[in-house]
Amino acid sequence: MRDQSLDFLKSIVAAPSPSGFEQPVARLYRDYIGKFADGITTDTLGNVSAIIHPEAKVRIMYAGHMDEIGFIVHYIDENGFLFFSAIGGTDVATEIGQRVMVHGRETVSGVIGRKAIQTFKPADSTQVPTLKDLWIDIGATSREEAEAVVGVGDAVTVQTDFTHLRGSQVTGRGFDNKAGLFIAAEVLRTLTAGGGVHPDVGVNILGTVQEEIGSRGAQTAAFNIAPRTGLVVDMGVATDYPRARNEDAGRLDLGRGPGLWQGPNTNPVVWRLLREAADDVGIATQPVAEGKASPTDARLLQTSRGGVATGILSVPLRYMHTPSEVMCLDDVQATIDLVCAYCRRITPDIDFTPW
Ligand SMILES: [Zn+2]
Repeated sequence: MRDQSLDFLKSIVAAPSPSGFEQPVARLYRDYIGKFADGITTDTLGNVSAIIHPEAKVRIMYAGHMDEIGFIVHYIDENGFLFFSAIGGTDVATEIGQRVMVHGRETVSGVIGRKAIQTFKPADSTQVPTLKDLWIDIGATSREEAEAVVGVGDAVTVQTDFTHLRGSQVTGRGFDNKAGLFIAAEVLRTLTAGGGVHPDVGVNILGTVQEEIGSRGAQTAAFNIAPRTGLVVDMGVATDYPRARNEDAGRLDLGRGPGLWQGPNTNPVVWRLLREAADDVGIATQPVAEGKASPTDARLLQTSRGGVATGILSVPLRYMHTPSEVMCLDDVQATIDLVCAYCRRITPDIDFTPW
């Protein structure tokens, strides 16, 4: 992976983007892709679309959501402590004791506090805490002092650094789904550098908003763009950690390539084309089976307007929705290569009807 690309990944991971507050990451995405796209639009909800061949009648829509989970301040007490709710699904046990950034009038540091273990009653050590048991301490001593820099409605993210582990594994916050946004940018760069796609096929490569609270950005973007086929790239729950039961959850390993979804969430023609593309360019994929509606942007994309022939690729991720997610950069690169190979295979005459 190029140093410049890795720097872009680090920059979008560092930037805050809880659902509804995606603008800092959207700005970085627009700046990075500016020189590769034929056009860039930002819609009313905040979805950013980079376009190849804007005039083409047949369009591919790539969706990588750029929002991350986070928190929102809902009350400040008279002593300057901040009380907060979740944006998206969070595992409270992983939040206690974390350092956070409160993105207010200024971005200020804080910590997530809870009563000390020394004061626990017997029941406290067996009970799982909820967000109601926690608060954010920014060091203020009064409501007035806190309100000078932050307020109700401000977004909060956990402070973590992008860190390399052994081999190609990296850890950080919000890889779900800044990795998908990174892949979007790199697909655009690679397609533009490598001869593009069929001249009568357009590609809209989107950073979508508000996936973590119901794929609301994908819904409006799919309606606007009206694509014939779509690809959703998001993170998949890796099941290669200690005591994971593959019998219960299936199998998805880090470092063995993207998960390729099969079943009711995907179009069989897209699935076949992705398989052929993967074989052609020598990329390993891992089968993902899901019988319920997908908890990704694909759910809204697939059922937009008269239906969109949709495929889903999952980048394996350990510890999803925690401050220390772990992924493998080889999987990220393999997904970039596979999406490029898929886009290059699309011609205007392909019939996606599942006959
Ligand atoms: Zn996601």
